[in-house]
Amino acid sequence: MALSAFAVSAEAEGQTAAWTEPGDVDALDDRALFVIGNTLFTVLHEFGHALIDMLNLPVIGREEDAVDGFAAVTMIPDHPNEMRDALIVAVADGWRAQSDLALDDGVRPYWSEHALDEQRHFAIVCLMVGSDQNGFYDFALEAGLPEERVKTCAQDFERMKSGWKRLLAPHRPDAKAEDHRAGSPVNVVFDQPLAEQDELFDLIQEDGLLEEAVLRLGAEINLPAPVTVRFAACEDANAYWYQSQREVTVCYELIDEFEAIVLGAAVR
Ligand SMILES: [Zn+2]
Repeated sequence: MALSAFAVSAEAEGQTAAWTEPGDVDALDDRALFVIGNTLFTVLHEFGHALIDMLNLPVIGREEDAVDGFAAVTMIPDHPNEMRDALIVAVADGWRAQSDLALDDGVRPYWSEHALDEQRHFAIVCLMVGSDQNGFYDFALEAGLPEERVKTCAQDFERMKSGWKRLLAPHRPDAKAEDHRAGSPVNVVFDQPLAEQDELFDLIQEDGLLEEAVLRLGAEINLPAPVTVRFAACEDANAYWYQSQREVTVCYELIDEFEAIVLGAAVR
């Protein structure tokens, strides 16, 4: 099974993504791994919304859970891989930290279209241990996932992964077809950040890992039209999928928040 960035769509493709090569993880410090991992998860989450809209995919259950699942199974490697393991651990840790902050503030938006941050944390931990009962077992228990729940996570992972795989199968470039094509591209745009976001700007471009992972989406799924993934200053710590513009926007302010979390500034 491929270890490319987008395992849901790359089973037959072999390992192609440079960022999966062992040893890459040493090039990034904890801060970079945390920021890049959580930013990539955010992009993939929004891209999941894009796929549902553009490919007219059915959604059974809460769409926000489905696209969290897309992001998670896309990032989780099928075999232990230092870089990808570190990135998905960063995502799980990120949701835990955001949950702690929300709980400190007494915020529990049960009415939200999203599950609570704490639930999103555990859902990802469950998918992780479901993908690798040995490799993520200790991590899952330390995260607080009860042992009896750990046992059911393999099925959660398989269902989430095979569900996305089946939905995307008709939209993969067929390597054997004469009209082999990569579909419409995913374009990555880094808007000029605000002055105080300069360092962040450098960080998310570090190693080209994030950009490569995003560009790969366009190569592995036949999109009916180009999609832009834009990193921009937007005075809001958030990310969006704009259907009419076919654009995913990830705000520098959100990435700034990830950095604040990992640097401890947001931990009270
Ligand atoms: Zn969403």
